[in-house]
Amino acid sequence: MALKSGNEFDFIIIGAGIVGLALAREILIRRPGIKLCVLERENRIAAHQSGNNSGVIHSGIYYKPGSQKALNCLAGYRLMLEYLRENNLPFEVCGKIIAAVAEDELPALRRLYQNGLDLGLDKIEWLNEEQCKTIQPGIKALSGIWVPYTAITDYKLVCESLVRDIRQLGGEIRFQIEVSQVLQNHDIAILTDRKKVSFFTRKAIVCAGLWAGQLAHTLTNQKGLTIIPFQGRYYDLKQAEKFPIGPLIYPVPNPAFPFLGVHWTRHLDGSISLGPNATPAMSLSNSGSRMDVLNFITKAAFWKMAWRYRKQGFTELMKSGSADFFAVQGSRFGWKIQSNDLKKGKMGIRALMVDQTGQVMDDFVIIHDSLITHVLNAPSPAATSSLSIARNLADEIL
Ligand SMILES: Cc1cc2nc3c(=O)[nH]c(=O)nc-3n(C[C@H](O)[C@H](O)[C@H](O)COP(=O)(O)OP(=O)(O)OC[C@H]3O[C@@H](n4cnc5c(N)ncnc54)[C@H](O)[C@@H]3O)c2cc1C
Repeated sequence: MALKSGNEFDFIIIGAGIVGLALAREILIRRPGIKLCVLERENRIAAHQSGNNSGVIHSGIYYKPGSQKALNCLAGYRLMLEYLRENNLPFEVCGKIIAAVAEDELPALRRLYQNGLDLGLDKIEWLNEEQCKTIQPGIKALSGIWVPYTAITDYKLVCESLVRDIRQLGGEIRFQIEVSQVLQNHDIAILTDRKKVSFFTRKAIVCAGLWAGQLAHTLTNQKGLTIIPFQGRYYDLKQAEKFPIGPLIYPVPNPAFPFLGVHWTRHLDGSISLGPNATPAMSLSNSGSRMDVLNFITKAAFWKMAWRYRKQGFTELMKSGSADFFAVQGSRFGWKIQSNDLKKGKMGIRALMVDQTGQVMDDFVIIHDSLITHVLNAPSPAATSSLSIARNLADEIL
């Protein structure tokens, strides 16, 4: 039986990022006529990670076969391309080269190639120096992997389209409602916002990105999990036309570190950005409070993470925000970039979940707690994977 009055719903989803919106759409498709509402703290959708990312539709090559990331990225890739086609949204399958520029990067590049084959990505190709240049004239690399699957899109447009679907299917989105507490009482979950307004629902799903830990603090405290915000800054090339880049160009990632490294990304409008870097952020949002930082910097997990990743240059990371840093990183692939070729671009803040030993949680983490489901860790490639995460979550919830 459907709940009726103003603040009573069958399903409430907290967070209008791409994961929450994809899930709302999926539930409404499967259960026509139910009362569903998405509550969002900002005055717009995709205000955080989903609207401030690289816009890449990942192939899945980086992820361990059998992991949630691999399963959802492979399935999500196909679903996302299908969704973009069906809804006439812009995208381009431009491919990417993962390029090794030093001998000591070759073993990791070989492992990555094998991982791609193990995942069934049978169109990837190992490239020698000349073959790299054939695909991307001007590139300087010892070897590379050609990943023809990789595509680019604009995830903000995807989110806007999901909102249209949700509204057409009878769902609701309410903005500027910041949920501060989620409780369970028998068969009803009660959500309270900062202004003490209550919402009642049969099922709540928390898709709150950087704030997911705060809304699950009993769970995260029990499990010793902490979300650390990591800033991802981009610099844009002032004259993109001087750099005729076809595919995206990525470095070989350090397998011990949870970021892909500064890459060349071409966007749908022809602009090119370098980034993102990865520095611990001082707040959870671009406009957020400095008090946020106390929530994680006082936790042992943060300092354990800093210690654990010291060899990967954790302290150097803190200094990696300058245009000079981006110019050096960008120039690794053969094109000479000076800092004055660059202008500051956008910035996104990633939610990175670490356990009590400071180890970064590599995979997606979703926990079902009776009437409340918490999407606790949905870092990259969760935008690519969103439609698949939504399908699997809907299977479990419904
Ligand atoms: C710099 C960067 C680059 C990336 N590049 C890629 C890429 O190229 N490809 C890819 O697949 N992925 C990429 N990602 C990852 C991807 O963007 C995220 O994994 C994905 O957007 C997560 O979506 P989400 O809906 O879980 O979180 P979010 O987009 O962060 O949404 C969470 C929402 O919840 C809302 N919220 C939070 N707390 C509350 C509350 N208490 N009450 C109400 N609302 C609340 C927030 O305002 C927000 O709108 C990148 C991420 C970053 C930051």
